[in-house]
Amino acid sequence: MPKNTLHCSFCGKMRDEVKILIAGQDNVHICEQCVDSAREIVDQEMALTTQRFTSAGAFKLNVKKPMEIKAHLDQYIIGQDDAKKVLAVAVYNHYKRLTQKVHEDEVEIEKSNIIMVGETGTGKTLLAKTIAKLLNVPFAIVDATVFTEAGYVGEDVESMLTRLLQNCDYDVQAAQRGIVYIDEIDKIARKGDNPSITRDVSGEGVQQGLLKMLEGTEVLVPPQGGRKHPEQKLIKINTQNILFLAGGAFDGVDRVIARRINTNAIGFNVNKELQDYQRKNLLQYVNAQDLKSFGLIPELLGRMPVVTHLEPLDATVLRSILTEPRNSLVKQYTKLFELEGIKLEIEPEVYAFVVEKAMEYKLGARGLRSICEQILTNAMFELPSLKQRSFVVTLDYATQQFAGSRLSKLKVA
Ligand code: ADP
Repeated sequence: MPKNTLHCSFCGKMRDEVKILIAGQDNVHICEQCVDSAREIVDQEMALTTQRFTSAGAFKLNVKKPMEIKAHLDQYIIGQDDAKKVLAVAVYNHYKRLTQKVHEDEVEIEKSNIIMVGETGTGKTLLAKTIAKLLNVPFAIVDATVFTEAGYVGEDVESMLTRLLQNCDYDVQAAQRGIVYIDEIDKIARKGDNPSITRDVSGEGVQQGLLKMLEGTEVLVPPQGGRKHPEQKLIKINTQNILFLAGGAFDGVDRVIARRINTNAIGFNVNKELQDYQRKNLLQYVNAQDLKSFGLIPELLGRMPVVTHLEPLDATVLRSILTEPRNSLVKQYTKLFELEGIKLEIEPEVYAFVVEKAMEYKLGARGLRSICEQILTNAMFELPSLKQRSFVVTLDYATQQFAGSRLSKLKVA
């Protein structure tokens, strides 16, 4: 071949269009750009193959009995007994499926994805996270509001599996038995009863996209998340054994339940005490029908057959959350000070003060932490440089520190 027709045998570019042309046998050549592309393909393939062979070991499934699961949850989460029980049973049954050897004629146990209904900050995410840790399976938290129907600005629903894969270093086997927690499921409600007006890309469209995945199917997942595009290498994940938990506040669901219960009531209920109790604890009667009136489509609800609820947190529960869980805030601060060689003592009135402020600012359990931070930041800043060996937080000190903080300047609505 004459010299001036030298070209890359892979992309066809001529000698003068590339910087380097490496010669192989039989007059075959490769340019530096094709070497780069080849390197990328080799890296991706190697990563996938290594995962295929090394998996299974790191995430050894740790199946516990429902009572053991509940006892474990009790160490970290205060109250919420109903949700704990329902979750413990559902998770146990789900993982029993995983270990069951299915013969053709045998009864096949179906998956029991769960919806948790409860105000924000009542422990929905904490429950899901604690269970995943106990079972030793990969866990991902995703926000339903970022998803839109394919073709629109936003993320594909498949990208929630990307999150799961990333959290277990792309161990496909492990991810296929993981738990995905979908937060704010109530925010992907169908927009209205008339589907013809506009396309409902972030509501019903997303719900439709979720259906197959919840039920169990093979999904092609973009390894880096975002939108799928044609040249991308996709990872195949079977969702059949992935447990999906979803949570949402479903604001105003109590009114829906009240209406349903009243319309269902036959005759007069003369028991005033029972009526009062029912009114206060309506959430315990929540069912799929109530959620449907929030715009969740029946097909989706059918694939998340277990509905449970979380109670709103009152002052007593908040107070317990502050001190009782295994890694409660107070235990965490005590440890932090201890690592500095300082014995931290908090007077009981301070707990009451923190709870009162959390209630006042309507911050729920999430607020406990920010209030404690405001009270203790100055101490944590100064004490490491001093020789002091103990530190007592009195009500006076707490009130004074809180009054000087930015949080206290917020207006309470
Ligand atoms: P949600 O998902 O319901 O909005 P989270 O589970 O994220 O709420 O809770 C926020 C934080 O509040 C948690 O990290 C936890 O520290 C605390 N918390 C909420 N509820 C409880 C509870 N019942 N027991 C212990 N801690 C709780």
